[in-house]
Amino acid sequence: MHTPTRSAPARTPIIGGNWKMNTTLASAKGLAEGVAGACRRDGLLGSVEAAVFPPFVYLQAVGQTLGDSGVLLGAQDVYFEPDGAFTGEVSAAMLKDVGVQIVLTGHSERRHVIGETDVIVNRKTRAVLDAGLRVILCVGERLEEREAGRTHEVNERQTVEGLRGVTAEQMARVVIAYEPVWAIGTGKTATPADAQDAHAKLRDVLTGLYGQAVADATRIQYGGSMKGANAAELLAQPDIDGGLIGGASLKADEFASIVRAARG
Ligand code: PEP
Repeated sequence: MHTPTRSAPARTPIIGGNWKMNTTLASAKGLAEGVAGACRRDGLLGSVEAAVFPPFVYLQAVGQTLGDSGVLLGAQDVYFEPDGAFTGEVSAAMLKDVGVQIVLTGHSERRHVIGETDVIVNRKTRAVLDAGLRVILCVGERLEEREAGRTHEVNERQTVEGLRGVTAEQMARVVIAYEPVWAIGTGKTATPADAQDAHAKLRDVLTGLYGQAVADATRIQYGGSMKGANAAELLAQPDIDGGLIGGASLKADEFASIVRAARG
């Protein structure tokens, strides 16, 4: 049984802003400028990492706007093949080529709207890592699964299957995001205690897969209607190591206030 403890190696919190299919070229650049500016002005980065995940078509422009601010450039998705006849898809090497440093895999909208399976999520996760990039593997239960008492079973399956073939060494470039699907974009948030419970159980899964040291070093973010007003109490939980933010990441000040809360 995992015992949450503050004496485990300190984990640098990581806050990600998933812009989803929002913004225009102009507003994406403006948002990036706002986030980078707030992080610079308030000296937010160092003890916290921050990343933004704009739509593919704005990646380069956002990357240029972020400049040397230290805010990581992230992609919302990737395809697992290296190149070839895959119309509309984007490879990990292409993302790397335009300056992407970190990629989301298994976001609930990819799983449940687009229809991605655990096998696809795993192939994408490995493609990102094999390209030398960092990955945030998202997992989380749907409302009916929670109500059926299957929260942990779903989280465990998505984590084990998502990480299949990922080495202990590669785990240094992996972040897990626990995002209960019923809390995403709904304004409903898991209670800090429920989120902590899910995170501690996920860390147990990582311990089973990779041993205690890797499990203790791996960041597990919470996602699901996190905002400035509720971030601090969620981030105060011992196994919550950051947040993946949707709606609240579309306002630079709100996003910066979450980064500030993660800094403590
Ligand atoms: C998300 O899409 O990852 C997310 C957590 O969205 P929101 O913050 O809007 O619930």
